[in-house]
Amino acid sequence: MAEIINLTELDLKSAGEGIKTGRFSARDLATAYLAKIETSNPKLNAYLEVFSDVLDQADLVDQKIKSGELSGPLAGIPIAIKDNILIKGRTVTAASKMLANYQATYDATVIEKLKSAGVIFLGRTNMDEFAMGGSTENSAYGPTKNPHDLDRVAGGSSGGSAGAVAGDLALVALGTDTGGSIRQPASYCGVVGLKPTYGAVSRYGVIAMASSFDQVGPLGKTVADVKAVFSVIKGQDKFDSTSQNSSVTIKIPKTFKIGVPEDFLKEGVDQEVMANFRTTIEKLKSAGHQIVKINLPNFHYALACYYILMTAEVSANLARFDGVRYGLRQDGKDMVEDYFLTRGAGFGKEVKRRIMLGTYVLSSGYYDAYYRRANNLRQLIKSDYLEAFKQVDVIITPTAPTPAFKIGENATDPLKMYLEDIFTVPANLAGVPALAVPTGKNQTGLPLGIQITAPHFGEDLLFSLGRELEA
Ligand code: GLN
Repeated sequence: MAEIINLTELDLKSAGEGIKTGRFSARDLATAYLAKIETSNPKLNAYLEVFSDVLDQADLVDQKIKSGELSGPLAGIPIAIKDNILIKGRTVTAASKMLANYQATYDATVIEKLKSAGVIFLGRTNMDEFAMGGSTENSAYGPTKNPHDLDRVAGGSSGGSAGAVAGDLALVALGTDTGGSIRQPASYCGVVGLKPTYGAVSRYGVIAMASSFDQVGPLGKTVADVKAVFSVIKGQDKFDSTSQNSSVTIKIPKTFKIGVPEDFLKEGVDQEVMANFRTTIEKLKSAGHQIVKINLPNFHYALACYYILMTAEVSANLARFDGVRYGLRQDGKDMVEDYFLTRGAGFGKEVKRRIMLGTYVLSSGYYDAYYRRANNLRQLIKSDYLEAFKQVDVIITPTAPTPAFKIGENATDPLKMYLEDIFTVPANLAGVPALAVPTGKNQTGLPLGIQITAPHFGEDLLFSLGRELEA
């Protein structure tokens, strides 16, 4: 008889050891997660689908572990996958009605890598439709609730993945991050989330939102768990020409020079978030690290810059959902009416808003005023980082300006919603990696956290400092 598994205390290492030493099997572990999902998912709505073959997957992995075919750190580890990452033969919807019945015809590269590592896929997680949003309220299938307070959002767009990990409905999860969609929900739910360097992880088989920003990354309970998943999914892929192996040698300093962009932190940040950030700084100082005030002069424009470039790319990427090739189709009297009917019925409000904004900023006459200028600004923001990283090893800010907000609170005010992305979008604009780490709670018990940002391919710097913070 296998022991009763305490999911709350489990991390990747102890789960892996449990399986390897025979304290429990991959099947036992998967069974424990399925039981937890059955009781908790109706409350949280973290999963859109729990796969029916989870135990079959586990049996197969158990056999392979027994025969010695599988031995890595992810063998038998149950994982949740955001619903915009393709798993061959399974439904993938990007939480949109547009793709309600769409079946993936191939595996994303990250999925292929995870399969070879022997993970158990528990199911696909809820998200904002096509990853557009910061609360999972834009899902066509209802919002995910925050495990720390069911009246509040889990964040987004990878809210289902963050909620699943925080609520012990999965040990680790994959999300995607275009402007903060891994880090912000991680912060709201009190888990760790990594947005890797642009190009570190293949985007092949991931439903595109804004291709020059999108990255796949892991969410987990600890920095070590996130690091372990990242080392399996990263690497150059011939199917994604923007992917590459790191050629950077990172030296981990004994004590870090940590940049704090004071000017950027002034407006609109919740007092408890700021207090927690200051406490974290004091802790880092007493651990011997050096805090350096830095200047990032163009960061005030980052949010505007992101919402121009991102919507432009969204409008181009989502043109493919035309009723002909993928998913939903509504027939009209001619082809143009087919498009109107299909896209009118298939897309939700926020997706339509962004397609329209993006079409506008790319249209003749406005291209120069918006798209071109935003693109130039993107270069300036990148230079701000490069300049800063001449002085410091990493940069820290809060991950989000507020803790998780109430469901419905920001729903009618898109600008207020977009402001939640203020600290996360700069890393996507510049392609640098960033890690969200929980650093405490506010008075009502909601998780707060900080974000650490490193130079391109400096993930190991993030893991190293991140570990100290969670200790
Ligand atoms: N919240 C941001 C947005 O709405 C980020 C989305 C994302 O990273 N996918 O665009």
